[in-house]
Amino acid sequence: MNDSPPDLPESADVVIVGAGIAGISAAWFLHQAGLRVTVCEKGVVAGEQSGRNWGWIRQQGRDQAELPIMIESMRLWQDIADAVDIDIGYRRNGSLYLSENDAELARHERFMSFAPAYGLSTEYVNRARLEELITDCPRRWQSGLYTPDDGRAEPSLAVPAMARALAAQGVQIIEQCAVERVLTQNRQVSGVLTELGEINTATVLCAGGAWTTFLLEICGVRLPQLTVKASVARTGPAPLIFDGNASGSSVSFRRRLDGGYSVASSDYLEVFPSWSHLAFARDFMPLVKSSLGKLRLRWPELRIDDQFTRHRTLDPKPTAATIARIRARVTERVPAFREVEFVEAWSGMIDALPDVVPVLDRAGDIGGLWIATGFSGHGFGIGPAAGKIMANLIQGKPVEYDLSRFRLSRFSDGSMLELGPAI
Ligand SMILES: Cc1cc2nc3c(=O)[nH]c(=O)nc-3n(C[C@H](O)[C@H](O)[C@H](O)COP(=O)(O)OP(=O)(O)OC[C@H]3O[C@@H](n4cnc5c(N)ncnc54)[C@H](O)[C@@H]3O)c2cc1C
Repeated sequence: MNDSPPDLPESADVVIVGAGIAGISAAWFLHQAGLRVTVCEKGVVAGEQSGRNWGWIRQQGRDQAELPIMIESMRLWQDIADAVDIDIGYRRNGSLYLSENDAELARHERFMSFAPAYGLSTEYVNRARLEELITDCPRRWQSGLYTPDDGRAEPSLAVPAMARALAAQGVQIIEQCAVERVLTQNRQVSGVLTELGEINTATVLCAGGAWTTFLLEICGVRLPQLTVKASVARTGPAPLIFDGNASGSSVSFRRRLDGGYSVASSDYLEVFPSWSHLAFARDFMPLVKSSLGKLRLRWPELRIDDQFTRHRTLDPKPTAATIARIRARVTERVPAFREVEFVEAWSGMIDALPDVVPVLDRAGDIGGLWIATGFSGHGFGIGPAAGKIMANLIQGKPVEYDLSRFRLSRFSDGSMLELGPAI
């Protein structure tokens, strides 16, 4: 391997595909454990979902199997915030689900049937409490669900700061370096073929977000995964409306470190099935049926397949109509936003799995191949703990959580899929 480009190591204990929150968090804990880690990223660190999301770090509303992991993730976020070189905006100012009527409030019953047993501070709040929490609280919101110690952080800052901290400690994070194939010998990982050359390794973690299904397919591993476009806008500096994360049936807003808000329509997602995704139509039928009011089927605007350099950074654009919709919904629902400038809008492609909970597992019978993906619209918050879990699994260390809900084989062993709360 003498002819390798200078930045590519000849070998690594673990190669991680993808520098989003999942890959970088796994690198964080593997490095702490003393392993030689290389992260290969086809574009830039946090260029895709992890740098584009709403920035909610929430325990509220989680799937029961995710909840204990998420509780650990809150602690890990604090450790990360303390360890990096800038303020990444990690604050624990709460999450609030706003209800217009009893039927909307009743949707939270399932979560409240198990949340208190985990020691969560989540509570139902009435109109009087909402008036204390939200400045000039619009009349339409009558009650809500509130978790005061939920958190938030700035997606554009957090993972890049983690990556800088790792790089400063000698971890190799190589951008513009797509992994084209995982190399195997006798069903055991032997390396990766990247666009810059080969790296020898016995262990690979696929944390490639929306692209993971295609990298696994080359290895003969089936992962039903769909891409769902979600759009967000950012306001300029705004008066304090609520200091945490808030969401009603059609709007969401989250206080930003810069004094503005990240805002979105909470009832509007666009699905872009490609020919490859159509093979998963049956897997996704229950999810599509349960989310009919929210999902819009669209003609694919971007081709996502096994040509990993086709989009160095998956950067779907929100249409003018989508931006207008966000603005109209937000200003209609929350009049305080009427005087605030909307300065930017962007979209991201969510990597959804049929039951909207991730896969944290080994990849079938290929020795040394691991998967952390499919966070289905809520992986930013849980990412640090998911990364720690993967680091422990890879080292053969015990993991204290029941990971059966996150096994890959649930899509092929005839199990009845149980839908998680929502994308
Ligand atoms: C608009 C929006 C709002 C969201 N809001 C929230 C929220 O408020 N809270 C929350 O918890 N979650 C939220 N999410 C979800 C969250 O952002 C994701 O679940 C999380 O970021 C996924 O992280 P990841 O590391 O798995 O994937 P990604 O961040 O997508 O990273 C995968 C990386 O892998 C790289 N890659 C892929 N294939 C290859 C290859 N072959 N070789 C090299 N590199 C490769 C990609 O370029 C990419 O950088 C939101 C998502 C979106 C889009």
